[in-house]
Amino acid sequence: MNAQTPDLTTYQGLLEAVTDAHSGWESKDPATGEVIGGVPQRSVGDLDAAVVRAREVQPAWAAKTHEERSAALNAAADAIEASAEALAELLSREQGKPLNGPNARFEVGGCAAWTRANAAFPIEPETLVDDDSGTAQLEWMPLGVVGAVGPWNWPMLISIWQIAPSLRMGNTVVLKPSEHTPLSVLALAAVMNQVLPEGVLQVLTGDGELGAALTSHEGFDKITFTGSVSTGQAIMRAAADNLTRLTLELGGNDAGIVLDDADPAAIAEGLFWGAFINTGQTCAAMKRLYVPDSLYDQVCEALVDIARQMPMGVGLEEQNVLGPLQNRSQYEIVARLVEAARSSGARILLGGDPDESQAGNFYPTTLVADVDDENPLVAEEQFGPALPIMRYSDLDDAVARANGVEVGLGASVWSPNIDRAREVASRLQAGTVWINKHGAIDPRVPFGGAKSSGFGLEFGVEGLKAVAQPRAISW
Ligand code: NDP
Repeated sequence: MNAQTPDLTTYQGLLEAVTDAHSGWESKDPATGEVIGGVPQRSVGDLDAAVVRAREVQPAWAAKTHEERSAALNAAADAIEASAEALAELLSREQGKPLNGPNARFEVGGCAAWTRANAAFPIEPETLVDDDSGTAQLEWMPLGVVGAVGPWNWPMLISIWQIAPSLRMGNTVVLKPSEHTPLSVLALAAVMNQVLPEGVLQVLTGDGELGAALTSHEGFDKITFTGSVSTGQAIMRAAADNLTRLTLELGGNDAGIVLDDADPAAIAEGLFWGAFINTGQTCAAMKRLYVPDSLYDQVCEALVDIARQMPMGVGLEEQNVLGPLQNRSQYEIVARLVEAARSSGARILLGGDPDESQAGNFYPTTLVADVDDENPLVAEEQFGPALPIMRYSDLDDAVARANGVEVGLGASVWSPNIDRAREVASRLQAGTVWINKHGAIDPRVPFGGAKSSGFGLEFGVEGLKAVAQPRAISW
């Protein structure tokens, strides 16, 4: 390693590679307020140049075989694994999520796993007709250049969900991460770019205006976006002029429904992590919990017991499994929604009393009982560590209430009787319904939203097809 080449297997090396002391803004640790490093501010001119470069290198990348591109992705996964601890430290500092629990190390491990999975999926031409009338096949071509805009909650993993299938299918990628977690994504790309051909993956850091410039740019063949519903709507409008294809993974307000034969003690930990993974800052986390009258008090007590055992604090301290909210705006959203519930007469079973003197955006783990569906804590997406728990006496009513929101990303049903749970699952309006778990994603299982949670599938062979141009051939 010479003096000019930072060692990307170390935290200092990553910082050296991605920070810029002279321009842009400072990325800060949401647990302590400490400055992590300066972020390069990219302009619309930089975006134009990145698109030109992405288009220049795309034909050569597309000309490689699937085996060659898969080998490059596997090499990128090796590089991620070699830098895993350094990436997890940077992610923990910048996003706030602890190293341990289903958090920073887990996210970096997921980046390698998703990259390998996308390298491995088979994508062969499909024979649609093969009879006396002739033959027809469907094959999958590269689209060209994919523009990606990502969020701040799982910044590395969600970037990989955008990057890995796009590259596998012979596209090049220009990605704009959230201004809240730019260094994490720059570092991930720097690690991957040690082994990828120059120009196939470019990351440009900037704010929402750069995101708007990217999503209205005529140089992209496809935009993949994960973030809020309102920004998704703006992107759809912006993409209209260029007819740019879209995959939109937007917010959710996932319901969990406990059935009356469930064992509260047995499901409590699964319910907890379903709601509080990444301190609640997860698109497909459980954000509303419906519990039958007969089990209501037991489920509430079991959740309080589990929640008390889960330490929250600075992410780099190994004992912690819950962290701060990533940014102050999100902290304020959570605080406002819990206050709305409290002032309506809801019972705060745990939390709800942030220590304002504490450094960082820590909002305590909060469980709220006896709250109405119309209350903002239930009706809006809290995206933080506050779970409302509602009673029901009639299962059909619970299903109707679970379906009674505009969004439909995920949902879950909790029962030892899988047939019964399966029947309830079939009535829920969501892109994914889990049974006895929530938010457990798998690279082999397509993931996408129903209703206002967006459209287009990620993961699996369906995810590869979503970043490809289908071509039917008949003879
Ligand atoms: P946004 O949707 O505003 O941000 C997501 C990404 O879009 C960021 O990279 C952002 O850039 C970029 N962006 C912002 N404005 C535009 C635009 N006009 N055109 C193109 N890109 C744009 O989410 P927020 O960070 O504001 O979070 C708000 C809410 O969204 C949260 O409270 C939560 O409910 C939800 N959310 C859902 C996520 C999910 O996983 N589905 C993830 C994150 C948030 P920049 O950050 O630099 O402004």
